[in-house]
Order: sequence, then structure tokens, then C-alpha cells
Amino acid sequence: MRQIFTVLHKEVANTCLCNLGLTDSRRFSTKCKGMPAPRRGGTPALRLLSVAIMLMAAEMTHAQVRRENLYEFSLPRMGTILRVKLYAGDQNEAHRAANAVFDRVEELEEIFSDYRDDSELTKVSQEGAVAPRVVSPEMFELLAASQRISELSGGAFDVTVGPVVALWRAARKTHALPDAAAIAKAREAVGYQYVELNTQNRTVFLKHTGMKLDAGAIAKGYAAEQGVALLRSRGFSRALVAAGGDLFIGAPPPGKPGWEVAIDSPDLSNGSRACTVLLHDVAVSTSGNAHQFADIAGKRFSHIVDPSTGKGLEGEASSTVIAPDGATADGLATALSVMPPEQGLKAAESLPGVSAYLIRQSSTGWRYYSSPGFPQGCHEAGKGGH
Ligand code: ADP
Ligand code: MG
Repeated sequence: MRQIFTVLHKEVANTCLCNLGLTDSRRFSTKCKGMPAPRRGGTPALRLLSVAIMLMAAEMTHAQVRRENLYEFSLPRMGTILRVKLYAGDQNEAHRAANAVFDRVEELEEIFSDYRDDSELTKVSQEGAVAPRVVSPEMFELLAASQRISELSGGAFDVTVGPVVALWRAARKTHALPDAAAIAKAREAVGYQYVELNTQNRTVFLKHTGMKLDAGAIAKGYAAEQGVALLRSRGFSRALVAAGGDLFIGAPPPGKPGWEVAIDSPDLSNGSRACTVLLHDVAVSTSGNAHQFADIAGKRFSHIVDPSTGKGLEGEASSTVIAPDGATADGLATALSVMPPEQGLKAAESLPGVSAYLIRQSSTGWRYYSSPGFPQGCHEAGKGGH
């Protein structure tokens, strides 16, 4: 609390004094560049004015300084637990803000869920092949982001993978591998190239029958970002929203350089925590099969499928992506799970502000891959890694 007081006090005093050209050049030299240099001592009138302004500044400081505490809330949303952490003046205002986030994410769930018959996504899947369909701005934005990630990853991420995912969801229940012929048939209706987006009319047209959209690999990251945007618009910038493993992180906690984010690891020899990074104003997503998988015939298959084969991924792995926006972090973390590690890192690094950290199980043990832009703290975590 004391730290935030100091920071605000400094800012308020600085602004007032700078605006009036009454700068103490030792204290405010950087922010007040270009202002006329103060005359030492000044006239008595100026000194009086200076005292009055100091008092005004102190009063403003008092009014603007708020004691802020960390509040945390969680509720089930989007098939996972949605967590909201924010710094606020009191519990009631924190509660109201968090509730607004939960409501907003529920709206997004009504748009993007592929489990609900009445979601916008389901309707686009059912009717988008008949004629171009006008969609919500959120749907259009998410499908446009999906297309970009598909192109970047050569189809490793594909929002049209629904028909194949449906087979693997059934396999998870029956514990029997999907039939090869069924996979081949399902794959015919998979292809991001069949999704036609028209920016001017905000329409989506599916150019193949039997297509089924699945936003499961990108919507949670998007929702986390929307949650933080909403909190920011209400004045709560020191906040974090996590939809399962998809986080959007706002301004740092008071007096801290960032939020501490632990990257979970499937390598249990490391105590399951690969490393901790300090982040602010970015999205970070981790994809893997730590929580969602199917055990079939003695093998573990991830809920992520390779669209080029229609098969669930095998082997323990996790992929973490840091990006300026939530959809990219989430979608790319899934794409990198499918791509060969070196190729995935290259794709991630080709985008501004994007970096990645991968953990893979190999026949010789665990391997760690980190792109140069990924924050320190993880490079060293993987002994023997890149
Ligand atoms: P999580 O949902 O655990 O955060 P992901 O973000 O990787 O993990 O999303 C996985 C979900 O995305 C799957 O359950 C499935 O619905 C869908 N999906 C699976 N494979 C792909 C893929 N290659 N491209 C796009 N979506 C996928
Ligand atoms: Mg994802």
C-alpha cells in the first residue's frame, strides 16, 4: 500500500508542478524536460504561489490515493474455471467488476460454444454452407484471427476441425479408437480454406457441406482478454483473467514489476512447475494434455488433434505462448502442440511480441525449447534444453 501511495503522490505532484513551470529540476528532471528552468528562490509572490500549489497538490494526492487490495473470484465458465484477480479499493466494487467479467464471458460462451445447440457458432456450422451469414463482431474477429493462425501454422491450427474432434470425444467415452474410415470421412469436411470471410458485410460462408466449427482452441484466450479489457474500462487496470490455462494479464500489481506466472510442466521430475515468469500487459496460454486426454488401448491421446492426420496427439507435452492478444496466444499454443518444435518456434517468433516455450517428451528424456524472446526464468529451467 505504501508503494502505491508513493507512486501516485509523485505523479500528481509532478504533473501540477510541471504544468506551471515550477519544476524542481533535481526531482522532476525527466518528466519536465523542455520546461523553463526555475529561478532560484523566485519573487515573494512566486514563492507564495508555489506554496499554494504545493498544498493543492497535496490535497489532490490525498483524494486520488486509494488503498488497494487484491481480490480474487472464480466461477465455472467455458468448460473450465474462470478466475478474476484485481486490485480494488473495496470488496464491493471488486465484486461488481468481477461479476461484469463473468457476465461478459457468459455472453461469449453463448456465441462460441460448440456444445450448445443455440450458440452462434453452432448456427454458423449448420447454416453457413447454405448462404453467407452475417455474424456478430466477436465471431468475425475470432474467425479472422483463426484464419491468420491457420495460415501461419500451415493448418496445424484449424477452427474447422470439429468433425474430427467429435470422433475423438466419442472415443474418450467408449475407450475405442475412432475407425480409420470415419476419420477419413470426417477430414473431408475439415479445411480452413473453406471458410470465406467478407470483412465489408461481416459475413461467413462455409464452402463445404458437413463442416463443423470448433473454437475450443482459441475462444478462451479471446475471452480472457475481453475480461481484462472490461476491467480496464472500469478503471481496474491492475488485473488478471484466467480461463483455465489461458491468461490475459493487465498492469502489474502495485509496486511490482509484473504478475508472477508459473508455467506448469508435464515433466514431474521438476516438481511439475517448469519455471516462473514475470508478466504484464500480455496474454499467455499453455496447451497440453495434462488435464484433457483419452486413455485408449494403453496409449494416451491428447484432446488436440493433428488436422493433417485426424489423429489425437500422443506423448506428454506442453506448449506455452506469450502474445500481445489472447486469441493469438491460445490459438498458437494449440498450433505449436501439433507442429515440429523448431518450426513452431520460428512461426511464433515471426510475429511481433510473440514468444514460445515448449516441453516435449522424447525417447531420451525431456526436451525443452525456448524462443529467444521468451522471458528469462524458463531458459534455464529445462536442463539440457535449447
Ligand atoms: P485447452 O482447451 O485445454 O486450453 P487448447 O486451447 O489446445 O486446449 O484447445 C483444445 C481444443 O481445441 C480441443 O478440445 C478441440 O475442441 C479443439 N482442437 C483440437 N485440435 C485442434 C486443432 N488442431 N486446431 C484447432 N482446434 C483444435
Ligand atoms: Mg489453445
